Amino acid sequence: MTASWDDVFNNRLLIEEIAPIAIDAALLQGVILRTKEQPNLSEVANYAPFTLLPSLVPKALYDQAKAVQQDFNLLLDLVSQDEGFLEEVLASTVKVDDFIAHLFKIYKQVLKEGIAQSVFLGLNRSDYMFDCDTDGNTSLKQIEINTIAASFGGLASRTTEVHKHVLNVLGKYKQSSELLPNNPSKGIADGIAKAWELYASEKAVVLFLVENSQRNIFDQRLIENELWKRNIRVIRRKLKDVSERALLDQDRSLYIDEHEVAVVYFRIGYMPDNYDEQGWEARLLMERSKAVKCPDIATQLTGTKKVQQELSRPGALERFLASKPEAIARIRGTFAGLYSLDEGEEGDKTAAMALANPERFVLKPQREGGGNNFYGEEIKDVLENIKDPSERTSYILMDKIRPQPFRNYLLKAGSDLKLSECISELGMFGVYVRQGKEMILNEQIGHLLRTKATEHEDGGVAAGVAVLDNPYPI
Ligand code: ADP
Ligand code: MG
Repeated sequence: MTASWDDVFNNRLLIEEIAPIAIDAALLQGVILRTKEQPNLSEVANYAPFTLLPSLVPKALYDQAKAVQQDFNLLLDLVSQDEGFLEEVLASTVKVDDFIAHLFKIYKQVLKEGIAQSVFLGLNRSDYMFDCDTDGNTSLKQIEINTIAASFGGLASRTTEVHKHVLNVLGKYKQSSELLPNNPSKGIADGIAKAWELYASEKAVVLFLVENSQRNIFDQRLIENELWKRNIRVIRRKLKDVSERALLDQDRSLYIDEHEVAVVYFRIGYMPDNYDEQGWEARLLMERSKAVKCPDIATQLTGTKKVQQELSRPGALERFLASKPEAIARIRGTFAGLYSLDEGEEGDKTAAMALANPERFVLKPQREGGGNNFYGEEIKDVLENIKDPSERTSYILMDKIRPQPFRNYLLKAGSDLKLSECISELGMFGVYVRQGKEMILNEQIGHLLRTKATEHEDGGVAAGVAVLDNPYPI
């Protein structure tokens, strides 16, 4: 690597001068979060954690992630329409994982009744890390793909200006001009707006389904405001509001508080905790409706780690993309080793492999939102303590990606200014809209770089571990 920020990192006085400038730039740009203590009050907000300088990212790997996004969009859309595949692949998981079983039950129930929805909107973020082998070669490896509530597209649209300003203040004008343009919030709004337009009811609204605790509201507001600019009405409701006040009319249009709903954009619904019994009923009601769900329940199931693992089997991608060998090659080129832990010989082999070298793997349950995975010795504890062999099926095993660590300052409200050893995760945002059988829109719409100190194996920005960043292409 030729470029580096060593001149800055080795100058403590300069760091102390520049950090407050960076923080003010973040606040001015709206790179903000509500506080943990007051997650539902905007009167107190603070900057969202971010890196002092953009982190160096190989341009070739960035381009590779960008180039494969439309393929992933297409793949997700096709998998979500393949009942036989989802049924077969998730059969073992459904038996042992109550949450996935609940989603699956609703999925089957809606299929049986007949799907009223005719416009489909997918907004996803495919996450990668840069694996570094013993010879120092780096390669792009997918961590996972998020098909529900993929966040930080809003704030990521504002962080480029922050790093530009910091580089300018440091006199690094040339480097400042090399930062990549990024505006996922516009792309996300374009997708929602297209779905709304195809739903074709001028008075209908877009419903943002939001958390009880709304710390990350500004990330959502950036998308919301893009929709208002296009004269599309947005309302925000919780799952509880839907369970108490939503209804379907005779042709299964969805209504809440007198508003007809064209699009439901989920920013919750991916964790078991999100649902009580009424919550599940509300989910079923929405799924039965004509409204465009982002995502529909099939697409949420398509984003499970079990589906990711099954898609990595030889021949699995061919089932969906037989006529597109280049797309298959691009997609497969990003896969890390993924292994089934289902009951039987194959699963036994996987478990033995993990027990023999736990430091080489990550053990993952079917959960989203960070903090659920197991690493190293923990993997042994989990596998050795499994009593009923079917329980093992609720996990998949994955090769651990080993990026080359680098240095950066992680600016977090209330934390000391210190140089950390870091690794990054690059997310690519994708959007697609399908009407009936016709793909109307399929695009890559921007990126998100998150960086964390190497002492943490897991955990996102919301958990206070990772921070927002920008790729500096090299
Ligand atoms: P979640 O749905 O909880 O976000 P992820 O699969 O993204 O689940 O895992 C959470 C975090 O764990 C990732 O952001 C990454 O930091 C780490 N992680 C996941 N898979 C791997 C892997 N194969 N190698 C190294 N780190 C991983
Ligand atoms: Mg993740």
